[in-house]
Amino acid sequence: MKFGTKAIHAGQEPDPTTGAVMTPIYQTSTYWQESPGKHKGYAYARGKNPTRTALEKCLAALENANHALCFSSGMGAIDAVAKLLAPGDEVITGNDLYGGTYRMFTKVFAGFGIKFHFIDLSNPENILNYTNDKTKLIWIETPTNPTMQIVDIEACAKIAKDKNLILAVDNTFASPYLQNPLDLGAHIVMHSVTKYLGGHSDVVMGALCVNDQELYDRLAFIHNSCGATPGPQDSFLVLRGLKTLHLRMKAHCENGIQVAQFLKNHPAIEKVYWPGFTEHPNHEVAKKQMRGFGGMISIVLKNADLEKTFKIASSFQVFTLAESLGGVESLVNHPATMTHASIPKAEREAAGVVDNLLRLSVGVEDVEDLLEDLKQVLG
Ligand SMILES: *Cc1c(COP(=O)(O)O)cnc(C)c1O
Repeated sequence: MKFGTKAIHAGQEPDPTTGAVMTPIYQTSTYWQESPGKHKGYAYARGKNPTRTALEKCLAALENANHALCFSSGMGAIDAVAKLLAPGDEVITGNDLYGGTYRMFTKVFAGFGIKFHFIDLSNPENILNYTNDKTKLIWIETPTNPTMQIVDIEACAKIAKDKNLILAVDNTFASPYLQNPLDLGAHIVMHSVTKYLGGHSDVVMGALCVNDQELYDRLAFIHNSCGATPGPQDSFLVLRGLKTLHLRMKAHCENGIQVAQFLKNHPAIEKVYWPGFTEHPNHEVAKKQMRGFGGMISIVLKNADLEKTFKIASSFQVFTLAESLGGVESLVNHPATMTHASIPKAEREAAGVVDNLLRLSVGVEDVEDLLEDLKQVLG
């Protein structure tokens, strides 16, 4: 089955009790047992809920995975991966991570004796400088947030295989429509479902997709034991969102191209970060591992201090100033004080997250209106 068909149908059969075409919201915490332990596959809703099961099957199909697990947030999903580790273990990860991931690694798991190396992954060979017999996990994001660096997933997977490490990829920015890390050799794909998968800025959710049965069993154990599982209402909303993922992503990509080109030629812009430009340092890798360049674009404003940057960020009429991304509506975000505020200034700036950088999540509105808004704001 092809992508759009899977997005609409995978995991979803007409409901066996009524024939309802849309998967019902099974709003129940517990299930009847005929005799102790004898039930219809569902015992207690932290462990399993039929609405969530349908969603997990659909997500697994979209990532070409054998299994998926949905979490109550993207951070809940990352937390479960980190709990595969034990004190003394080491992790190699990027130096341009989602702020919340950086915060969890440094402020929570470092305290439990896990060591993290935050390194430049634009050349995956760098990983080899940090591996030792304690290394267990490589955690990457690509494209990165917010400077849209591209990490070569296949090259990281080769290293992971050689060194017997787990490779996990945060695939939030690309979505499975543009990139399938498991097909490139990764072991775990993580999503903030909150973003493109949900697609309508009305749900917070996370997911992990895996092929390996043993890894799935370990993660499913953590999922149920630690309990960051989502409810049926949210699962329903994401199932609905997924039905248009392919249509939305196509529109995000088309609008993204036009917005990126417009910004590139604009005199008020110093720099545009977008992997679709042929001069992007890893454009060839992006072309190799992605089926399009998406709707995420970051810009550095020319000669703008914090005050001027704030003024510009607050003057949009169609773009909405807000955290998050990947919804149908266009958003603008100031990473230095919003999404990435938890990263110390020196580290943040070294990674390119300067005070005059804005991140755009280009939505699926009519692109003429988006360009008009940018013209109006940038002058
Ligand atoms: C939003 C986001 C997360 C965290 O997900 P939540 O659903 O907000 O918990 C992780 N990684 C990336 C790249 C994100 O954009």
